[in-house]
Amino acid sequence: MTDTFDAAAFANRATSALRAYDPGHDLPTLRARFGDVLCELGSNENPLGPSMLAVRAAARVLDDVFRYPDPLGASLKRRLSDEWGVPVAAITLGNGSHELLMLLAQCFADAEHPVVFSRYSFAVYPIAAAAAGAPGIAVPALPLDHPDAPLGHDLDAMAKAVTAQTRLVYLANPNNPTGTWFTDAALERFLDAVPSTTLVVVDEAYNEYVDAPGLSTALHLLSRHPNLIVTRTFSKAHALAGLRVGYMLSHPSVARVCERLRESFNVNGVGLAAAEAALGDHEHRARVRETNRRDREWLADELVARGMRVFPSQTNFLLVDVGRDAAELESRLYDSGVIVRPMVGYGLLSTIRISVGSRAELQRLLERLP
Ligand SMILES: *Cc1c(COP(=O)(O)O)cnc(C)c1O
Repeated sequence: MTDTFDAAAFANRATSALRAYDPGHDLPTLRARFGDVLCELGSNENPLGPSMLAVRAAARVLDDVFRYPDPLGASLKRRLSDEWGVPVAAITLGNGSHELLMLLAQCFADAEHPVVFSRYSFAVYPIAAAAAGAPGIAVPALPLDHPDAPLGHDLDAMAKAVTAQTRLVYLANPNNPTGTWFTDAALERFLDAVPSTTLVVVDEAYNEYVDAPGLSTALHLLSRHPNLIVTRTFSKAHALAGLRVGYMLSHPSVARVCERLRESFNVNGVGLAAAEAALGDHEHRARVRETNRRDREWLADELVARGMRVFPSQTNFLLVDVGRDAAELESRLYDSGVIVRPMVGYGLLSTIRISVGSRAELQRLLERLP
């Protein structure tokens, strides 16, 4: 039987222009093949795992999974409201921050209202723009030899790319996949340069890891800039990637618009409980920060000693220029059960992104490098 049915031929215009998000390798198959020796260094997960408080809170909710979760996530929102000193009405919860980034484009961008982001930035931003049928403007990044932020956001160029029509700018701080960052003062200058009808999304997925001078969080600027939106996630430092919880802090009117399209039960009950408990474990958070900083610095030194170029990072991963065709190295690592993230999709042919895994995982990676 010849199968001539092809749904792609009649997908809508926005979807026709898209390719699916590339999640990397087929990890379940790799886990079955390599078992315990598999080193998963491609998705920036936290090797220490979540707080035990979060795990216990999640387990308690399992008895109630026959019930729908709280559609408002009120308990987690109250906890976040206390944590950040913002009203509950300023908070939107998401099934991971990925969902919120998509939701913002759906609600504010369209064919006449473009979306601006940096050339080497989170892969979700161009997808969000395309899904909304909006032009995605990829602004050239800072040059490779920039002293502070090679391949990072060129905020001056991004401000120039913004017009009265631009509805949305995505900034990642620190940025994925480069690991680079910009200061609070630089963000403030950017906010002063763009119109108040341009929503500026600062994606702070890695904020829990930052300690560079002049860099804290965009949250302090929320009260002065109603067009500022900050997204956070429980997937990275909180190590709850599998439960899919993210949140966004914004002007309440932005939250109200997003509420029109948000799925009613977008965050599951187990995730809500675990996330709330995770916020209370300051000791765990401190240990995650310290361990990551120590191991990231150690890994960077080891890679530099092997003749590689390591980009500055305020995150739990390193962008590394291996000085030759990265695809060949990446596939050799893959065959020995070490998974890193190739950067060919960005056209960065000699670089790979390596998550700061456990010491044992990083040791195994280093043993397999030339
Ligand atoms: C990992 C990551 C996210 C988080 O995604 P979730 O959907 O919350 O798991 C968001 N932005 C950036 C830049 C990331 O690297």
